[in-house]
Amino acid sequence: TQDEVTYKRVLLKISGEALMGDQGFGLHPPTVERIAREVKSVHDLGVEICMVIGGGNIFRGLQGSAQGMERTTADYMGMLATVMNALAMQSALESLGVFTRVVSAIPMDQVCEPYIRRRAVRHLEKKRVVIFAAGTGNPYFTTDTAATLRASEMRCEAIFKGTKVDGVYDKDPVKHTDAKRYDTVTFDEVLQKHLGVMDASAIALARDNHLPIIVFSLDEPGGFRGILRGEGTYTRVT
Ligand code: UDP
Repeated sequence: TQDEVTYKRVLLKISGEALMGDQGFGLHPPTVERIAREVKSVHDLGVEICMVIGGGNIFRGLQGSAQGMERTTADYMGMLATVMNALAMQSALESLGVFTRVVSAIPMDQVCEPYIRRRAVRHLEKKRVVIFAAGTGNPYFTTDTAATLRASEMRCEAIFKGTKVDGVYDKDPVKHTDAKRYDTVTFDEVLQKHLGVMDASAIALARDNHLPIIVFSLDEPGGFRGILRGEGTYTRVT
């Protein structure tokens, strides 16, 4: 029931790669559906949900520019990739009966709504999941920064960053068996020690707006719902 959960409105950030399954590229519909079920289980608790999905499973601006493409053009391609991911997630959520709106930082009226802050807030109040697509709409940014920006604008209580591991470690837990997980860590520590939570501009924005980031594993079934109810392991960045 709702009174078990202290959060009213949160933002879930996932990378594009979370949607590609074992394929190594693109979208894997069963994986998209699995994540949509995780989102639904939290939505069922009465929590208002914002989502930002990356585009790295399809295109990354930096990769394009490393291969000779003009950087800003490559970044716009990356932003378009996030729109595809957002539409796939919308489709999966709506097939589970969760009303969802995709709102884009770059207007493309035939595809989705343009981002208008007050309208997005209204969607949340009506218990629609809102997926913020096309990042910030600006090149040289990332979807992590977009997540922090939108979470601040929507007055979310926290950003939930779903990753492959259950928190922030002092070194890569995949490579080092003695890696230690932080229960809590400060934004300044994340910046000083270059802990790979989010890029520096996203961390600085979250710090300046007092927006905690909760890093948790998206591979753990029921993990998102569990963490919202105070169960499981995660790192809280504050
Ligand atoms: N991007 C951008 N501005 C933004 C957000 C994203 O230019 O505000 C571009 C950038 O090229 C980036 C790509 O979109 O590489 C995909 O986003 P991101 O790398 O954040 O995706 P993720 O790593 O989360 O899958």
